[in-house]
Amino acid sequence: MIRAVPEVVAMASYALADLGNATSVSLSQNESAFAPSPAALAAGQSAMAAAQLYPDPDWRKLRAAISAVHGLPEAHILCGAGSMELIGCLIRAFAGAGDEVLGSAYGYIFVATACQQAGARYVRAPEPELVVSVDLLLGAVTQATRIMFVCNPGNPTGTRIPNAEIRRLREALPPHVLLVVDQAYGEFDDQDPILVFDLVERGDTVVLRTFSKAYGLAATRVGWGYFPPAIGAEVRKLMNPNNIAQVSQDMAAAAMRDQGHMKNVVAQTARIRDRFSGRVRRLGLVVPDSNTNFVLIRYPDAAAALRADEVLRANGYVLRAMNGYGLPDCLRATIGVASVMDAVADILEQQRVD
Ligand SMILES: *Cc1c(COP(=O)(O)O)cnc(C)c1O
Repeated sequence: MIRAVPEVVAMASYALADLGNATSVSLSQNESAFAPSPAALAAGQSAMAAAQLYPDPDWRKLRAAISAVHGLPEAHILCGAGSMELIGCLIRAFAGAGDEVLGSAYGYIFVATACQQAGARYVRAPEPELVVSVDLLLGAVTQATRIMFVCNPGNPTGTRIPNAEIRRLREALPPHVLLVVDQAYGEFDDQDPILVFDLVERGDTVVLRTFSKAYGLAATRVGWGYFPPAIGAEVRKLMNPNNIAQVSQDMAAAAMRDQGHMKNVVAQTARIRDRFSGRVRRLGLVVPDSNTNFVLIRYPDAAAALRADEVLRANGYVLRAMNGYGLPDCLRATIGVASVMDAVADILEQQRVD
């Protein structure tokens, strides 16, 4: 009998989103409702012609585009096959057996899986009212804490804390704790990101971003991070060389250069989201203010959330159940195009009447 190592045998597989059947509309993975920039599509087409070659292992064009838009030094940017790759490598590089990685109660759930892969212990600080609390995070730090993950704006809550709070967190954290700020939804947040990017220069903080959400490039698997050089050097040792297909790199670089397209997507998404949130709130349900391309809907209890999930599925719409996050009374709805969100709201209203 061939057996994996005990730590792996004991692990649960990562819980992938349930996408329903072939005809369902999936609102379960926070993908963009809109197609990527036409410039990205053109760049991908032309990159395909050179598919016999390995991709640029240094992501030079992509890093140059990110650097030009965000004003960050190219050499301090690392690009991953999705920011998931960067999260996994960060944890493996800085936390192992006996170490703790600290997150907020409703933080990004992939971090828990990546900790299991690394043999580190994932610890959650309480998150009352579905908003990250800097003081409760600080209160959960121990001698064993190696990394703290904060997702801002948060997934699955959609809520955010002020960037000044992130700075207060960093200043109060002991120097032995690496702070990772996951800004997967940063483009949907109207706060000036410079307050957080500037923390990286201290040498103890990393900021992560992705092309999977606002840029509408989830299929290409491209994420990036702004790293202090000494931290980035260790992370890079664990990344696969040639990790991002050239088609993906070129599409992401073109999408980054087309800020107008991205900003238009963000504005349209916000309009649809706020109209949808208003309709759902009028049904008496709780919807925290979202700064992302999704909303969390809180029902009076888990049974009511399950009934709504079933009715929506029967009508062909799949939302994300939140049992895995410890929020069985909630459903998370990715914001789709206006006609889809109107249809979802119609179904929820109708269910209310029945
Ligand atoms: C979607 C998401 C990511 C991005 O994942 P990719 O691997 O870049 O697609 C990272 N963090 C959070 C919180 C997310 O919701």
